[in-house]
Amino acid sequence: MSAYADFHRRSIEHRDEFWAEQSGLVDWHTPPTQVCDYSNPPFARWFVGGKTNLCHNAVDRHLNQRADQVALIAVSTETDTERTYTFAQLHAEVQVMASVFAALGVKQGDRVLIYMPMVAEAAFAMLACARLGAIHCVVFGGFASGALASRIEDAEPCLIVSADAGSRAGKVIPYKPLLDEAIAQSKHKPTAVLLVDRALSAMNLAAGRDHLWAQMRQQHLGASIPCTWVDATHPSYTLYTSGTTGKPKGVQRDTGGYAVALAASMKYIYGGKAGETYFSTSDIGWVVGHSYIIYGPLIAGMATIVYEGLPTRPDAGVWWSLVEKYQVTVMFSAPTAVRVLKKQDPALLSKYNLSSLRALFLAGEPLDEPTAQWISESLGKPIIDNYWQTETGWPILSLCNGVETAKSKFGSPGKPVYGYNVKLLDDQTGAELTGPNQKGVVAIEGPLPPGCLQTVWRDDARFVNTYWSSVPNKLVYSTFDWGIRDEDGYFFILGRTDDVINVAGHRLGTREIEESIASHPNIAEVAVVGVADDLKGQVAVAFAVVKDASGLADAAAYLKLEAEVMKVVDQSLGALGRPARIRFVSILPKTRSGKTLRRAIQALCEGRDPGDLTTMDDPLALQQIKDALVK
Ligand code: ATP
Ligand code: MG
Repeated sequence: MSAYADFHRRSIEHRDEFWAEQSGLVDWHTPPTQVCDYSNPPFARWFVGGKTNLCHNAVDRHLNQRADQVALIAVSTETDTERTYTFAQLHAEVQVMASVFAALGVKQGDRVLIYMPMVAEAAFAMLACARLGAIHCVVFGGFASGALASRIEDAEPCLIVSADAGSRAGKVIPYKPLLDEAIAQSKHKPTAVLLVDRALSAMNLAAGRDHLWAQMRQQHLGASIPCTWVDATHPSYTLYTSGTTGKPKGVQRDTGGYAVALAASMKYIYGGKAGETYFSTSDIGWVVGHSYIIYGPLIAGMATIVYEGLPTRPDAGVWWSLVEKYQVTVMFSAPTAVRVLKKQDPALLSKYNLSSLRALFLAGEPLDEPTAQWISESLGKPIIDNYWQTETGWPILSLCNGVETAKSKFGSPGKPVYGYNVKLLDDQTGAELTGPNQKGVVAIEGPLPPGCLQTVWRDDARFVNTYWSSVPNKLVYSTFDWGIRDEDGYFFILGRTDDVINVAGHRLGTREIEESIASHPNIAEVAVVGVADDLKGQVAVAFAVVKDASGLADAAAYLKLEAEVMKVVDQSLGALGRPARIRFVSILPKTRSGKTLRRAIQALCEGRDPGDLTTMDDPLALQQIKDALVK
């Protein structure tokens, strides 16, 4: 048995012993008396009796050894600014922010909603909450007022931290009017709003409610605010899921379990070491931003890059220039971003010295083989696909090369990560599928490991009903994703359980069809959805982004490409997988986090209302789908 298989087995069979060991990776004010309390399944309580603080672990505890090392690098290619903070400076700034929060009435357990662009102050705000034991609720900056209002109502924050504006592709997006509109819409009103003025957009201040960070910072400079020691089970934050499949859910995370899970993941998955630099291209509005821009790297004593801007501005070499400049060792991004880069000049990749970089981790959606192959060859570095969810907070499937060196298989996010007792289950019977290459629902047997969601914010019933009640006859956590496991134990994610197409009784994962279509040399990206069909039950319909669209205005050329792509599918999957229609578009509808909104596409194809689109990036993409449907 391999070293990793042993490691994983121990994490399940000797769960408490395993996690007691990992708990030594973080500092405790009071050590836990019980590792895991699972007396009330599916609610797991980790490190019961322990008291700790996330901000202490991310900042204060590094002061002894690395006060003068860089902790935070805030880069904006939108405003052309770069600011760096050492651990000592970060410590000072976070205390000032915490002192301002306290002056504005924030106490332990209160919620603070953070609606911010990717600036250093957003990180200070999150850490200041952790310092005070307040619960942060980060809402992706630039979300429309309706989406923001519903989150304000759900979280009931006493304070909202925001800014005058964000910026995207050089275009200023004023946040303050969106925020004012959201507060007006919401039944709950915050008592205070703290605003970072970036001098991008004029703001109207509401007297008595709105405060300027720069002014308050001056008044609180030099403040000394100790960390509030909280129970390991104290909620550190709530965060909404991406909303790809429907109404976002408020995921609630603990403190102690999360700190331990992140510290362990930095060691066993990411291999990030103190004194090095971590670069995650995500946004603090998403779970990757929470775990691997802010807390994970800082807990590990690494410098972290907070990046505002596109991957392609001023040119598509910008990320790699940062890798060179800051000697980045570990990088984290999403397949969608890699696909964007793939369309750019490859010379921009080889222009920089990337020798510091050890690996690129990708997560958030399926990493198709051509994209994986391309980035792996272009960078000459290991590409490690991570499969996880907002709910889990850290990877469920990955390669854990901190334990042993395993090779990637393109298209697979690897094997179950230690702590996760992953099963493939028959969705109809709940029976476990143990043979190779059997298709099942990816499920996790309780207790979920440390760091995963404790519950849905203020809605225990929704937690149980949504996640733990979908597989017949079993209390297991459903990921709502389909997967298979090959003979070597590698998993492949086939798509979401609601993305499976049933053509004349045959169940096909949309991802299989997408991969096949994407192997055509002129296809950059594709989304396949199942559309109701009187005869076959469902048929597959594909929307593909072509690399070279010239000539497609000509109907004959359009049909020719469609026929060509269908032939590719016939050859790789058989006629059963062949889409009934393939439509060419220049952009696919996506969430702000880069996930394709198949649910909305499907609804449009079936003539239904596309539903909650508050997290959608570019509404024009949906218009293209509508237009393509009448072609
Ligand atoms: P919602 O739950 O609100 O519909 P969402 O599921 O898109 O939104 P996230 O928690 O951001 O919200 O995404 C997790 C999902 O993303 C997974 O369940 C899976 O479907 C997909 N995913 C994440 N990483 C990978 C990966 N490496 N390979 C394949 N799919 C992935
Ligand atoms: Mg989900």
